[in-house]
Amino acid sequence: MQLRYETNLSAEEYVRQKAWKFAELGSCPLHPGGGCSLARHGTYSRKFPEGTKIARWYCREGRTTFGLLPDCLAARLPGTLLEIEVVLNTVRDSTSQEKAADKLREDIELIGALRWIRHRIFLVRAALAILIERLPAFQKCTPTVSCFQEILGLQFVLPVLRGYAHEHLQMLPAPLGFCPKKRFQHKMGTDPP
Ligand SMILES: [Zn+2]
Repeated sequence: MQLRYETNLSAEEYVRQKAWKFAELGSCPLHPGGGCSLARHGTYSRKFPEGTKIARWYCREGRTTFGLLPDCLAARLPGTLLEIEVVLNTVRDSTSQEKAADKLREDIELIGALRWIRHRIFLVRAALAILIERLPAFQKCTPTVSCFQEILGLQFVLPVLRGYAHEHLQMLPAPLGFCPKKRFQHKMGTDPP
């Protein structure tokens, strides 16, 4: 199970400072009253950015492992939330998704690049739509990062939205929230375009 590690470190700073060492999990999400044997359980590694580790806890009674994901990193997708937002911004600033795909993924064929882009658009839009429903501050937004950027007056909003969304992260689709895509699709009954 993924949990939020609240931090405003960039991914580079997170790796440089080995900030996973300072992650804290005060109580077990399964046993908030205490009484279980929740304990640190080492770390696991992510490939991007290179050297990234995630602090882990384990509750033996609940047979559950908890990973504390810092606000800068995408959930269930490689890399950072910032990188995902750059993709969305590039699509917005391009005349077509095909042009954006050429720019963003020169390394793969167009069809794969388009799928890669649309996957990210779909997941982020779904998360933003839920936030609009749940958080009065965003009531007037459309489910696009541009609209959230405008409302918050920020160039990049996804890492910050982890904070705004903190009470809803378990039901919000990754990469913003921690809900696995499969479960989310099942719930919503939709497929990515
Ligand atoms: Zn527990």
